[in-house]
Amino acid sequence: MDKKITVVGAGFVGSTTAQRIAEKELGDVVLIDVAEGIPQGKALDMLESGPVEGFDSKITGHNDYVAAAGSDIVVITAGVPRKPGMSREDLLNINADIMKKVCAEVKARCPNAVVIVVSNPLDIMTYLAWKLTGFPAQRVMGMAGVLDTARYRAFLAEAIDVSVEDIQAMVLGGHGDDMVPLVDYTTVSGIPVRQFLDEATLSKIVQRARDGGAEIVKLLKTGSAYYAPSSSVVQMVESIVKNKKRILPCAAYLNGQYGIKDMFVGVPAKLGSQGVEAIIEVPLTDADKALLQKSAAVVKDNIQKLGL
Ligand code: NAD
Repeated sequence: MDKKITVVGAGFVGSTTAQRIAEKELGDVVLIDVAEGIPQGKALDMLESGPVEGFDSKITGHNDYVAAAGSDIVVITAGVPRKPGMSREDLLNINADIMKKVCAEVKARCPNAVVIVVSNPLDIMTYLAWKLTGFPAQRVMGMAGVLDTARYRAFLAEAIDVSVEDIQAMVLGGHGDDMVPLVDYTTVSGIPVRQFLDEATLSKIVQRARDGGAEIVKLLKTGSAYYAPSSSVVQMVESIVKNKKRILPCAAYLNGQYGIKDMFVGVPAKLGSQGVEAIIEVPLTDADKALLQKSAAVVKDNIQKLGL
């Protein structure tokens, strides 16, 4: 394959991400984890599914970063997932230490890579990855908005009884309880969603999307979601690898856009071979503006907690 894509962390999100990348033949995959034997075993198992699934991507597993050298894209999923009752912010310090180790390797071995951060708390880990790698902000982003939007779209499709493919939507803000699903920009094949659902139903769906991660953590009891998260990362990887220039919500560096400065917050971004090639600013209602500012304030507070 032309592209080399490294996935750091061979846990639930990392391994399903590697599998989806290989199955879509987006590139050769290097899977890295500190747990001995796990990335090697999972990578070999995936490679052996190639003849059945019909993909030629190579997948290898490692405990060091030698094979990652020169990667085009690095997806960072290394970290500890949330346990029931645990907020994303509880993970802050544990995952920040992991991020420091991972980013030192990425900076040294993959100096031209586009980095997609998945580890939580997402907006802060993305900021940290940007600081630690020293990469241009365009080449560092976080995955959250595609997932939050996917959850919102799935619930809307169910309530309206239409195909998920026909729901267009955008979720802004930090990846947390303060995310901002934009009802005004939600359509069903271009038709405003309010033609299909009343305000009370829409509010319930918006709230369920906000609580989407916690709903799954509560059911699983150990660990958090990974099928939809890995699908969401791979949609971003695909847009970059194929230079599709899709407009996807992702945590991107803001330098004044939406009135927010020096922070990674979820906004509509154009993803191409250069990474975040543009940030799209859309007019917001006063209520959505206030929610976005509130969401950004939570991110800022966590950045300060880490002393960044
Ligand atoms: P997991 O526990 O299954 O996997 C994490 C893996 O990271 C483990 O295999 C662990 O050995 C590995 N790891 C730990 N330290 C490492 C290091 N220094 N170098 C390399 N690997 C290391 O967890 P998961 O369910 O795959 O979740 C991974 C992360 O993604 C968590 O932080 C979780 O909260 C986050 N997550 C984010 C989103 C999102 O929307 N952004 C969605 C789901 C999960």
